[in-house]
Amino acid sequence: MIEVTNIHKSFGDNLVLDGIDAIFEPGKVSLIIGGSGSGKSTLLKCIVGLHQPNEGKVFFDKKEFTKMNFEEKVPIRKEIGMLFQNSALFDSMTVEQNIVFTLDMFTDMSKAEKIEQANFCLERVNLAGKNKLFPSELSGGMKKRVGIARAISMNPKYLFCDEPNSGLDPATSILIDELIQDLTEEYKCTTVVVTHDMNSVMGIGDYILFLYQGKKYWEGSNQDMLKSDNKELNDFVFASPLMKAARETLKIED
Ligand code: ADP
Ligand code: MG
Repeated sequence: MIEVTNIHKSFGDNLVLDGIDAIFEPGKVSLIIGGSGSGKSTLLKCIVGLHQPNEGKVFFDKKEFTKMNFEEKVPIRKEIGMLFQNSALFDSMTVEQNIVFTLDMFTDMSKAEKIEQANFCLERVNLAGKNKLFPSELSGGMKKRVGIARAISMNPKYLFCDEPNSGLDPATSILIDELIQDLTEEYKCTTVVVTHDMNSVMGIGDYILFLYQGKKYWEGSNQDMLKSDNKELNDFVFASPLMKAARETLKIED
């Protein structure tokens, strides 16, 4: 479980996060949604320690991460898997080297063990045998899957994904969402996904946190969302024809 309390983050005069509280449960995918520039990535970075919040606390399973020094954070960092917005693969390294690089940094596994682990993770994301390819030889969906394979290579207890579907076609997006959901259940990890994809919201949105003007404006499940009368949330969500149709279907069923 991850708990954040009263997170504030500013860049100069720009107050981006204005007191965010949230709890992310293990074995579940939690979504952070909101408009472009609403602070979703900033919140994720505050949680994993890439940004230091100006105020507020982050707890990983009751341990206060925000008050730890660099050394104290290392064991928790090892339990964090992260898929960055642009996959963030090293272009000069092969698929296998991209994964082995993480294991080099954080483990004392032998070379053979690292390659075995890389193979295991690649198989898990349906990329068995693609070890020697370079990122430039991969499609967008394959790059995301390598990013996911790298994120799970340390058997993470906490998994963070920033816009895992950006740039993907709808069918590939759904496969990525299902993979994230399956891995979350398999590893029983606490997973937090930043997205503005309404397919994801309807597909895997058990718990959704909506950010607006630096605040948590709304939280709940995708089913609650369809019935919500929160204006800002509705303006955001029902700008999507898909979501409008979902709401209409619900009204007909009532
Ligand atoms: P989102 O992920 O929701 O699109 P971000 O968290 O990336 O939004 O950005 C929220 C706001 O914070 C934006 O106004 C952005 O310009 C600002 N911001 C984000 N990162 C930085 C940074 N490293 N330095 C200065 N401003 C930043
Ligand atoms: Mg972002």
